[in-house]
Amino acid sequence: MRDGSTSDCKQKPGVIAPVIDLKRCEGKGGCLEVCPENVFEIRRIAQDDYLGLDLMHRLKLRVHGMKVAYTPNANACRSCGLCVTACPERAIKLIRAA
Ligand code: SF4
Repeated sequence: MRDGSTSDCKQKPGVIAPVIDLKRCEGKGGCLEVCPENVFEIRRIAQDDYLGLDLMHRLKLRVHGMKVAYTPNANACRSCGLCVTACPERAIKLIRAA
């Protein structure tokens, strides 16, 4: 129903959040470019995350400069889905926040 209010069809912030599959992410930054809510940052993978990967994915990450996407502003996500579409590695899923 169109009521002329400022509400739109987007989800409220904090309901849905993006989750990055670090085995897929290559830090290309498509998500960073398209997200209207500034959810993402691209940075060097954290040591704990790196050590959590198997050898094959560690090597893959080295080839891609050790960069991955993180979501420091995940609670601002409004579930528009642009990041999911923009990621060439299909590394992003939107899940219901806990
Ligand atoms: S779904 Fe939209 S608002 Fe949420 S992280 Fe992706 S691009 Fe940003």
